[in-house]
Amino acid sequence: MKKKVIALIAHDGKKQEIIEWAKRNKEELGEYELCGTGTTSKRVAEATGLEVKGFLSGPLGGDQQIGAKVAEGAIDAIVFLCDPLTAQPHDPDVKALLRIAVVYDIPIATNVSTADCIIKSYKYNQ
Ligand code: PGA
Repeated sequence: MKKKVIALIAHDGKKQEIIEWAKRNKEELGEYELCGTGTTSKRVAEATGLEVKGFLSGPLGGDQQIGAKVAEGAIDAIVFLCDPLTAQPHDPDVKALLRIAVVYDIPIATNVSTADCIIKSYKYNQ
């Protein structure tokens, strides 16, 4: 059976949080195919040893690439740790990704507590 795919994205102010979260959930994440925006995927892969396919960096179109994959049905869940305290140059892309996740009813966690809920749920890897 093909593994479910989780996309990982974190704004710069949240990179350390997603790394800590990924380390804490390394075993569970190993059951999934992982991808993410450029820097996030690289940092998570380095910190955990997990394979994480990298798209472009978020501000350079990575969020849009992941949004396109959602529309194609190729992504099953997203962990997107947004920084609510810092203005993002690619804010329209961020909004577009949130929107497309709603359109396709893809679980999208924008904070660690929700990311924990998703990863602890069996539903998304059946
Ligand atoms: P990054 O992109 O992982 O390449 O830093 C994340 C973002 O800012 O959307």
